[in-house]
Amino acid sequence: MENIKNGSNILKDGNSEEFKTGAWKARYPSHSKEKCKNCMMCVPYCPESCIKQKDGILIGMNLDYCKGCGVCAKVCPFKAIEMKDLEKN
Ligand code: SF4
Ligand code: SF4
Repeated sequence: MENIKNGSNILKDGNSEEFKTGAWKARYPSHSKEKCKNCMMCVPYCPESCIKQKDGILIGMNLDYCKGCGVCAKVCPFKAIEMKDLEKN
């Protein structure tokens, strides 16, 4: 099937990286390195798989794909993620 993109329809598999879901968000997750215990509880809950880790350390969220759902902040047992409003232009 021909892949038709109109900005909102995803009609082909394996193309999720083409859709920058980060453009949807009104809020973003602010991560505190001081509070974070690197338990990685938040990582599997992120629906966009945009929480990045390296060598057992959480290094941040890829905001190109973070859609601001707030799930990571809800599941963090150490309150290390706070959802903040994006600046209005
Ligand atoms: S706000 Fe949602 S999409 Fe963004 S990093 Fe957290 S869980 Fe992932
Ligand atoms: S759940 Fe909270 S403490 Fe655990 S890695 Fe994520 S931000 Fe850090």
